This record gives sequence, C-alpha cells and structure tokens, in this order.
Amino acid sequence: MPAQLIDGVQLSKQLRADIAARAATLTAQGKQPGLAVIIAGDDPASHVYVRNKVKACGDVGFHSVLEKYEADLPEADLLARIAALNEDPAIHGILVQMPLPKHIDASKVIEAIATSKDVDGYSVLSAGELVANLPGFRPCTPYGCMKLIESTGYDLRGKHAVVIGRSNTVGKPMALLLLQANATVTICHSGTPDLGYHTRQADVVVAAVGRRNTLTGDMVKPGAIVIDVGINRNDEGKLCGDVDFDSVAPVASHITPVPGGVGPMTITMLLMNTLESAERGLAKNQEKPGPGAGMIPQPGLV
Ligand code: NAP
Repeated sequence: MPAQLIDGVQLSKQLRADIAARAATLTAQGKQPGLAVIIAGDDPASHVYVRNKVKACGDVGFHSVLEKYEADLPEADLLARIAALNEDPAIHGILVQMPLPKHIDASKVIEAIATSKDVDGYSVLSAGELVANLPGFRPCTPYGCMKLIESTGYDLRGKHAVVIGRSNTVGKPMALLLLQANATVTICHSGTPDLGYHTRQADVVVAAVGRRNTLTGDMVKPGAIVIDVGINRNDEGKLCGDVDFDSVAPVASHITPVPGGVGPMTITMLLMNTLESAERGLAKNQEKPGPGAGMIPQPGLV
C-alpha cells in the first residue's frame, strides 16, 4: 500500500486556527502578540519570505512590524534597532531574515536578540536550552517536523530515527528534538560513507540536505515515516525535496510531499513561538512580586 501523505498545509491550517484563538484571548487582555521582522538588502527570495511571515501574522491577529533596510546598513545601526526592539513591550519575537549583507556579522546579530524574543531559536543560548531540555524556543523547521510526525499518532519512544544533515538550524536541533521524544537517533552527513546502511535501519528518516534524490526507495525500511525538509529544483525547474518521492512512497508508511509538507509548517511554528513568548510574558506580569523580584531573569526561563 502506498504511503499516506502527511499534509503540512492541512496541519498548518489547524494549528493556525488554534494560534488565532489564543492570540484573540491575549489581545482581549491587552497583550496582542507582536513580531518584528528585519530585512537588509534586496535579495528577492528573502523579500518574499518576509512578506509571507508578515502576512501570516496578520492572518492570526498578531501585531507585526516589518523593517526594511538597504544593503549598506551599518552593523551598528542594526544592533541598535535590535536593542530597541528587545525593550519594546509590544514585540514578543524578533526575526532577522538571513542571509545578511556580507559586511554584517550574522552571529553577532543573532546573539544580540534577547533570548526571551529569539523566536527563530538560532542563538547559542536557545541552542543550549534545547540541549539541556530547558524551556525555550525551538528552531521552527525541526519543531514543525516534530508536529508532522506527531500528527501521524506515531510514538517515537524507543524507535530509531535517522537525520540526514547536521546544520545548526535544521539537522542538529532535529536530532535533539527526536532524542527528547525518546527515539534512538543517528545523525548522517556528507562524511557518512554508506548512507543507505543507516537509513535502512530507520523507523523515521528526516532528510535535510539540499540535494535531490538523496533518499531513494531502496534506502528505506518498509513502513518507515519519511520527512522531507529539502527544497530543490528538478530538471524541469519544479520544486522538489531531497527524497525521491516516486520510489520512496511505495515503501514508506507516511511521507511528506514537497511542496506542501514541511514548508508551510515553518512559518506556523514561528507564529507558535511568538504566541508562546507573549503568553509567557503575560504569565510573568501576572506573577505577584516575591523575594526574587527585581533580579535579572535567567535567559529562556522568563
Ligand atoms: P545546510 O546547512 O547546507 O546543511 C546540509 C547538510 O546536509 C550538511 O550537514 C551536509 O553535511 C549534509 N549533506 C550534504 N551532502 C550530503 C550527502 N551526500 N549525504 C549526507 N549528508 C549530506 O542546509 P540546511 O540549512 O540544513 O537545509 C537543508 C535543506 O532543507 C535545504 O534544501 C534547505 O533549502 C531546506 N530547508 C527547508 C526549510 C523549509 O521550511 N522547508 C527550512 C530550512 C531548510 P556536512 O555538514 O558534512 O557538510
């Protein structure tokens, strides 16, 4: 029997309806969730991404601010804007669209965002929170992949998951989230000699490589769940993932399509992180001042 499609468009719709309802509750309490999106330069794809993020905010009732800068924006000016947004009570999440112009140190910019507003989950402190199982923001794409796996009703406990790719934004956090769900996790990368040897043993495969046909049907265990993060173009210029869908779908039990799988979930989880940031802020404001009041809060625990 061919694999069931895991429909990221449908799941996103459901999650966004829930996000909109929770946002309406916060707004009624005077705490409308707010996201600031900053872009520097004129990369057309990046402008499309930020437009989509701002539109998604409007659709779920968030306040949003889009700050567009020229490619020659001085790094110091960008850091000053982030410092101001860190202090802005109407903003619960700050996202700086990557890539930044070459003269700007992207890691300095990411680390300048307050951990309590790091809704992309890219900072070193957010990564540390994930490693240490502390509450904090999870990077949106792997967080979305977890929701897609969850939607199948599959229990990851004790299962073998193989992640292909070890980037800081997708592969590594993905592996940590699977580990948190009590899967046994293998991480493969460009130096892995026999990829198929690992993937054939996997109950769940997540492909996050950026190279089409990385995973083919002969590399998949019958009944496995396959999540395709990759975004590539085939010879006809059509969007495709890292997984050879036609050969893998007859073998897997569940599979995400490209487009319509992981892609829509990434913005949805950005909205979720921003919502949760606003909810945490409200909970903090509602706390009665105790003996520790006025102390500097620990990052991520606010
Ligand atoms: P990346 O930073 O380029 O990382 C790619 C990873 O794949 C690296 O760890 C690399 O290994 C590994 N790799 C390369 N060739 C390999 C091979 N032949 N066998 C096994 N592993 C191999 O990319 P990324 O940012 O993680 O993104 C991965 C893909 O996901 C891209 O197509 C990207 O466009 C897509 N993506 C999609 C979304 C979405 O919302 N759908 C979001 C983010 C990314 P080394 O570390 O050894 O180099």
